[in-house]
Amino acid sequence: MDSLYDASSDSICRVAEEVRVCKRCRLSEYRSNAVPGEGADSAKLMFIGEAPGRTEDMLARPFVGSAGKVLDHALARAGIDRASVYITNIVKCRPPMNRRPRRDEIHSCMQYVMREIMLVDPKVVCLLGRTAHDTLLHGSFREHRSRYVKHGGRLFFTTYHPAYVIYNNKLREIFVSDIISIKMLLMSND
Ligand code: SF4
Repeated sequence: MDSLYDASSDSICRVAEEVRVCKRCRLSEYRSNAVPGEGADSAKLMFIGEAPGRTEDMLARPFVGSAGKVLDHALARAGIDRASVYITNIVKCRPPMNRRPRRDEIHSCMQYVMREIMLVDPKVVCLLGRTAHDTLLHGSFREHRSRYVKHGGRLFFTTYHPAYVIYNNKLREIFVSDIISIKMLLMSND
């Protein structure tokens, strides 16, 4: 990301428009729709996942498939309105067969998520899973999970990707309690 980036001449709408027609990497060849982030453009809490899945690719919206249901359930348990947060992914187009995005694809797409972070300017960025963590933070996912890390003057919290906890009740409860703990932190800062 260009260090001369000026957020005042950019907007979330503009990022979304660019994402919808982007052909910067090979993932554009496989998609039905690119999936820009969505939500409150001045949200206190931003979620960043890995990549759109099949349902997201069809509907052009992030986290609306089975992983989205897990996230919605956790938000409801924490008393967080989905419309009050911002939700996005590291790459905005679905990788074929839901494989992990490759390094060059992540590199091509990075400018969008960096602009989203700077434009929304959330109090907490919640990284969902290893790909989001390893892209935006140094260090080990395992050591950072369920913890806050300050990086570049911003507060990051790392937890599981909702898709990873779907079939594991224990991990799903950890995921829910992580989201509740973020809500507590945000309330204590209000
Ligand atoms: S994944 Fe990102 S960089 Fe690649 S085509 Fe989609 S929007 Fe563009």
